[in-house]
Amino acid sequence: MLIDLNLRAWSNSVKQALPLQGHAALVTGASSGIGLGVAEALAQAGASVAVNYHSHEEPARELVDRIVAEGGRAIAVQADVAKEAEVVRLFDEATSAFGRIDVVVANSGIQKDAPIAEMSLDDWNAVIDVNLTGQFLCAREAVKRFRSQPEAHRPARSAGSIITLSSVHEVIPWAGHVNYASAKGGIRMLTRSLAQELAADRIRVNAVAPGAIRTPINRDAWDSEEALTKLLKLIPYGRIGEPEDVARAVVWLASDMADYITGTTLFVDGGMTLYPEFRDNG
Ligand code: BGC
Repeated sequence: MLIDLNLRAWSNSVKQALPLQGHAALVTGASSGIGLGVAEALAQAGASVAVNYHSHEEPARELVDRIVAEGGRAIAVQADVAKEAEVVRLFDEATSAFGRIDVVVANSGIQKDAPIAEMSLDDWNAVIDVNLTGQFLCAREAVKRFRSQPEAHRPARSAGSIITLSSVHEVIPWAGHVNYASAKGGIRMLTRSLAQELAADRIRVNAVAPGAIRTPINRDAWDSEEALTKLLKLIPYGRIGEPEDVARAVVWLASDMADYITGTTLFVDGGMTLYPEFRDNG
């Protein structure tokens, strides 16, 4: 009975207050795909959002306009997450717009696929620079800002939350994509090591690991019926993911509802990591 009443009180309070009211968030790579969906969902959950983009200004600005039209707060900021000075400027602009920063979603990611013998050093470096070094630079900057913000003004129970965008390929090897899989494997340990280092500061660090999500990065895998049928063999849940599937997980992880969670990877993959080929084999 007591539990029942407490649960009711909890769900009422969740309904009344948006889970990220009063929070300021920064999302990298937010002009398309998962990043765009995450930025929009964070705003709908009550956060002010800095929408980072690298080269596609228009969709970033459109997203900001949409958020503002719905009564939210948002700014668009161009920056290359692989460049140290640009990451500092990105955080400066977000902080001067919102006065603080509470949630950082390090999402920017690219693919430059090739069999190993044909993979150029440039393609290796480009993917490691954006997908792994970019996350390091954003996490480092986030920690500095979180530590400098007075405890009394925190909107959350934690001192800040970092969410890294990983992938099922932090655990599933991927032939022909060694740069990408190596970066995602790196994000797994970046996330866990940072979480261990920062828990005493009350800074939470978690990864969200999407499987196949319908975005421009993997268009070849879903934009024909033949490709989609092949892809679905890898997804026990029987459908491709949508950016909102990932966005909802990010909102929850960023909120106080996940306050005791740090150092984990939340897979949003319809079961892709469950070795579906073993269903009738092995
Ligand atoms: C990749 C997609 C791929 C998915 C599942 C993601 O991390 O970016 O291209 O479809 O993993 O393999």
